[in-house]
Amino acid sequence: MLKSGECSVCKKQIITPVCILCLTDEIESWVDNNKVSLVKEYRIYARDVMEKIRPKQILKCSVCRSNATCNICPVCFAEKIFNWLAKKDKKLATNFAKDFKKNLKQIQPGRQLFA
Ligand SMILES: [Zn+2]
Ligand SMILES: [Zn+2]
Repeated sequence: MLKSGECSVCKKQIITPVCILCLTDEIESWVDNNKVSLVKEYRIYARDVMEKIRPKQILKCSVCRSNATCNICPVCFAEKIFNWLAKKDKKLATNFAKDFKKNLKQIQPGRQLFA
């Protein structure tokens, strides 16, 4: 059993909950700007990640302010996407890490992306 507010991947407290839809959207617009040909595949992969993460827990999302599924911390989600991108395009993955590193450090202090 997860304690409330815990990330189901790293088991740490999610400091700034962002719902899975906002996470997916944010990264999707990045993919769209950087490699539009991957958007379709990205959507499929992101949906797959969403479906595999259990258990579902409802928290107040800090982005859209609605009560929504927040069962993965933004860092773990970005890491999954990074690993997926790295398999497709190394350079693209490096750019992704660069763009998200700073942002994620602020929303999940103490947790570094790709450390
Ligand atoms: Zn996590
Ligand atoms: Zn949201």
